[in-house]
Amino acid sequence: MCTTSLTTCEWKKVFYEKMEVAKPADSWELIMDPNLKLNELAPGWKQYLEQHASGRFHCSWCWHTWQSTHVVILFHMYLDREQRAGSVRMRVFKQLCHECGTARLDESSMLEENIESLVDNLITSLREQCYEEDGGQYRIHVASRPDAGPHRSEFCEACQEGVVHWKPSEKLLEEEATSCTFSGASKPSAQEGSGYSFFSLRWCLFGAALCLLIVYLQFSFRSSAFL
Ligand SMILES: [Zn+2]
Ligand SMILES: [Zn+2]
Repeated sequence: MCTTSLTTCEWKKVFYEKMEVAKPADSWELIMDPNLKLNELAPGWKQYLEQHASGRFHCSWCWHTWQSTHVVILFHMYLDREQRAGSVRMRVFKQLCHECGTARLDESSMLEENIESLVDNLITSLREQCYEEDGGQYRIHVASRPDAGPHRSEFCEACQEGVVHWKPSEKLLEEEATSCTFSGASKPSAQEGSGYSFFSLRWCLFGAALCLLIVYLQFSFRSSAFL
């Protein structure tokens, strides 16, 4: 029945199971839509953006696998209250392979590590936006913790499309890096300054010595002229 990828099947399975419990009277469908765009919503549709999902990708070209804690998932959702039917369209923003860099976005895949908690967050947002209920707490992912590797925007489909998904801590780190460069740049100029004053002191001494020499020479020339 499920002819698409294993990940898609897993998403659908978890979503249908959880929606059956959350809203048994309504029928919901989940559709993968790789053309979904941020903030481009049809009338009545709602949007939810998961910005720090954690996922493992693998490149089918060079078999390189990598973990990312900055996976962006976009959901558009709509509930037809009369028909008691709703639909969710989702797009997982892909990442280019860090090793070979080839544009095999459609080949990289996110493994079903934390689909459960991601679906929980989606349903929380659904409750809030489509049912106007208190959806409860959003689940915090492992991805929310500061991770070791920096985010490589050039490999990220979301960043390339202008989806801002940076964490404040990263912004702070960026600012720190900038201020570090600043103080680093001001250090040599201070050394330059002290170097210059030392240099000018030497010039002063040299000038004074030169003056004394001229005075001495003039004096000795005059005294020799007397003779
Ligand atoms: Zn690769
Ligand atoms: Zn990104």
